[in-house]
Amino acid sequence: MAKIITITNQKGGVGKTTTCVNLAASLAATRKRVLMIDLDPQGNATMGSGIDKHQLEHSVYELLTDQTDAANAIIKDTLCGYHLIGANGDLTAAEVELLQLPRREFRLKMALMPVMDDYDFILIDNPPSLNLLTVNALAASSGVIIPMQCEYYALEGISALVGTINKINQRLNPELKIEGILRTMYDPRMSLTKDVSTHLVEYFGDKVYRTVIPRNVRLAEAPSHGLPALQYDKSSRGALAYLALAGELIRRTDRERTAEAVVTTEQ
Ligand code: ADP
Ligand code: MG
Repeated sequence: MAKIITITNQKGGVGKTTTCVNLAASLAATRKRVLMIDLDPQGNATMGSGIDKHQLEHSVYELLTDQTDAANAIIKDTLCGYHLIGANGDLTAAEVELLQLPRREFRLKMALMPVMDDYDFILIDNPPSLNLLTVNALAASSGVIIPMQCEYYALEGISALVGTINKINQRLNPELKIEGILRTMYDPRMSLTKDVSTHLVEYFGDKVYRTVIPRNVRLAEAPSHGLPALQYDKSSRGALAYLALAGELIRRTDRERTAEAVVTTEQ
């Protein structure tokens, strides 16, 4: 059964979309079956996967509003190794429409149920806000990856996000937890980066991924070619960092599953 992971941070420009696209490609490169869902009306993850957001036959908007089902909405012929449910500006309407629909926080979760066994990982990219779309992502997920830049105000935003995750955990989704904190656009030459990074590790302990994503021009260039960095320049530092992150995520997931299996046997 798929592990669903939301990639979120209400700050813009911290590397959410870059992480979603490149982690999806890296997991797929290790032969995991991966579905990526673009839940941002800007459609950057869709375009970054080489799919024209203006030409979508079915988008996540239609999926959330019951106008199509997952099997129809999934695009399989991407060049990135993973499958995709795309988004475009239509999705801005979904927020208002969702308010009128029953079980409005659980639309995405319900829509994904029929394809849960088809994938090992489902990754969800999010808009830079905490709206009903993000609540749908969090209600469907078991884990959250929070990408963040190690800069002065970064920690402040994170405590609000952690508060939201805790609330969703109590009210809507008891399975939800922080999967990991990812340091992005990391520049170890800056002393501020190191200070913030130290604070982060003090606060979140081993939730902070050991893998850090360096600032790397290939990661910034790849989306304009509609490709993850792994396909654009597979030996770039950016591509290699996301491969390392995929390895870390898989190892953590395997460890958790083994621990769960032990608990179940002991009961
Ligand atoms: P978000 O989705 O959080 O708004 P993006 O992933 O779109 O953030 O990243 C913001 C900008 O920074 C984009 O132009 C992206 O190409 C660039 N970027 C992201 N991560 C890196 C990185 N590690 N190195 C260099 N540029 C990056
Ligand atoms: Mg984005």
